[in-house]
Amino acid sequence: MKYMPSFDIDLDKHYNATVVIACEECGHETRHHLKALDPEQHLLCSCGADITMGVQAIQQAQQRAEQIRTSYRV
Ligand SMILES: [Zn+2]
Repeated sequence: MKYMPSFDIDLDKHYNATVVIACEECGHETRHHLKALDPEQHLLCSCGADITMGVQAIQQAQQRAEQIRTSYRV
């Protein structure tokens, strides 16, 4: 079972989603554009810990971003 990082979603005023990935090792937050995330791409925290977003995590992030977009438009 692949480790799934904990993350938050931020939307800017153009509704572009940024994923804020929290490192479990040091608590540092790494920001990454959701569109640019690739499940094959390994992401490292500045402390060297692996904070790669897998396919499932990216799907979750996309769903959450979609929910936030919907709630903004109500
Ligand atoms: Zn770290």
